[in-house]
Amino acid sequence: LFIAFEGGDGAGKSTQVRLLADALGALGREVVVTRQPGGTPLGAAIRDLVLHGDHVSPRAEALLFAADKAHHVDQLIRPAMGRGAVVVTDRYTDSSVAYQGSGRDLGAVEVHDLQMWAVDSLVPDLTVIVDVPSEEGRRRRGEVHDRLESEGDTFHDTVRQHFLAMAQGAPERYLVVDGTASPEAIHEAVLGRLVASGLVEV
Ligand code: C5P
Repeated sequence: LFIAFEGGDGAGKSTQVRLLADALGALGREVVVTRQPGGTPLGAAIRDLVLHGDHVSPRAEALLFAADKAHHVDQLIRPAMGRGAVVVTDRYTDSSVAYQGSGRDLGAVEVHDLQMWAVDSLVPDLTVIVDVPSEEGRRRRGEVHDRLESEGDTFHDTVRQHFLAMAQGAPERYLVVDGTASPEAIHEAVLGRLVASGLVEV
């Protein structure tokens, strides 16, 4: 079982990843929590290069994030799934399609195809989009931490709209939750959907 959390910066993804991991662990499942970019040692180096280094050209940014994912899927995600663990990731391919494809204007189709090649077509069983208005995301982020967080509201709004459009296009693979609701309410909605779609037994 493979579950991804996606959404803008400051949406509250990490909190939901933790709540879900705890709940699935309590049900007796082995849970592997990971994140993109940075889920492996190589990925952490890529993350640091892209987010905290000097200017990175948009296409180089897309390729570096794709390389991070290729390695991550091969080294960590597939092996974990292979032994029956649930993998919960904080961001996956949709972030790249939304940030580099739409936000950076590199073309959603091209970036999507690049991502699918990188991850050898591994698609999550469920992708949860934690949705918050861009201004709310900015408020929650507070002090800016990295290069991409410092982008303006227009950039973040383009990214947000792209996430929502992806979910609308494939409702069977997505759940959109209101990131301004309480963490507990969002968590219940996520767990409810996993149970309702037969992905998790309680
Ligand atoms: O969510 P997290 O803090 O790990 O994301 C790190 C940064 O990388 C964020 O600023 C996010 O906007 C950016 N990012 C990106 N493209 C991706 C994945 C993350 O621009 N494909």
